Amino acid sequence: MIIKPRIRGFLCTSAHPEGCRADVAEQIAHVRGQGPIADGPKRVLIVGASGGYGLASRITAAFGCNASTVGVFFERPASGNRTASPGWYKSAAFAEAASEAGLYARSVNGDAFSAELKEQVADIIAADLGQVDLVVYSLAAPQRQLADGTIARSTLKPIGAPFAGSTIDLNTSEIKEIELEPATPEEVADTVTVMGGEDWQDWIRLLVDRGLLAEGCTTVNYTYLGSEVTWPIYFDGTIGQAKKDLERATAELRETMARVGGTAHLAVMKGLLTQASSAIPGMSLYLSLLFKVMKEEGTDEGCIEQVRRLFATRLFSTTGDGVDEEGRIRMDEFELAEATQARVKSRWDQVTEANLDELTDFAGYKDAFLKMHGFNFDSVDYEQEVDAYRPMELG
Ligand code: NAD
Repeated sequence: MIIKPRIRGFLCTSAHPEGCRADVAEQIAHVRGQGPIADGPKRVLIVGASGGYGLASRITAAFGCNASTVGVFFERPASGNRTASPGWYKSAAFAEAASEAGLYARSVNGDAFSAELKEQVADIIAADLGQVDLVVYSLAAPQRQLADGTIARSTLKPIGAPFAGSTIDLNTSEIKEIELEPATPEEVADTVTVMGGEDWQDWIRLLVDRGLLAEGCTTVNYTYLGSEVTWPIYFDGTIGQAKKDLERATAELRETMARVGGTAHLAVMKGLLTQASSAIPGMSLYLSLLFKVMKEEGTDEGCIEQVRRLFATRLFSTTGDGVDEEGRIRMDEFELAEATQARVKSRWDQVTEANLDELTDFAGYKDAFLKMHGFNFDSVDYEQEVDAYRPMELG
């Protein structure tokens, strides 16, 4: 079939397999171009391995450290006239590239919150790798089914007071006002249940108990602090409570990991366009402003640049640089640099539809949005018929 972007609101319901393959190839080329990472991990589990920071972690581990990887994700294969989800195509492309490079890569497609899937993954590690020396937890999920069958849903809402902000319509480039009522206490609690640290701890406990974490093993989770202008909806909102819970979980996991002489890290990453962040109200405006300023300053990075730098200069380097007073690894130092934020904030107050292209990089935001779904790659001919079915070995 011929596959074009189908955009509805902030969603794109189609994805292009060849463009997704081009995305993975570019990320691999970046990692290879930077050279091997000294003292990197050799056996890695990535939970949330098919998009954004998790996929970049899998690519960095495999192609920067020569690591065997087990990736867990929740993606949709193609069916009928529906394309697969971008993460499906990207994981299939990753598997092909890993196989060509002679690297072990196994993928499990299912609900990472479930006890059955955790046991399945533990069995795979036990049988194929023996142990792992890095566990990356990079899940961004809209909901979590609990053991008793009930479902907790994650919401993106302010706490205490309504939120009024602006967002940019992807189709029309109009700036639209948005208003959100504050979350109920139950919505706050549910968001922490889904996006907080509990499930990360469940994974690690199981792996430690089954003896599957190697001596000196590391685990890392990703968080975001962001700019003052996004705090009302992000860090002071429901998702921020979940992110604060990750700090609690990291402290507790440092004790758990000590049982194998290892440690737990929370890495504060830069704001970027991913499937998860595209759903955050008002983020399109902030990220468009940020991309413009950071590109002007020459400090802009994508997921792969961030994660490769995290592995090479922080996680597996012993200098201890880039760790803040709370013990978090800071990869957002360029985003939150005073001068960068001052420029973002001054433009934030001035931006209108008339000066959108001048003050922001909305064009870059839209390009990143389309690329995330495999569109807008120069190397792909989008007028060509393409097979939407991409088989992938799973389990
Ligand atoms: P993403 O949407 O690109 O990826 C989410 C991953 O989770 C995918 O692999 C998806 O398949 C998987 N997933 C979702 N539900 C699942 C389930 N039930 N079972 C198994 N897998 C499931 O998200 P992302 O932006 O890369 O986010 C990853 C982490 O990085 C999150 O903790 C996020 O808060 C954090 N982070 C993101 C940004 C940003 O700007 N995007 C910045 C800093 C930190």
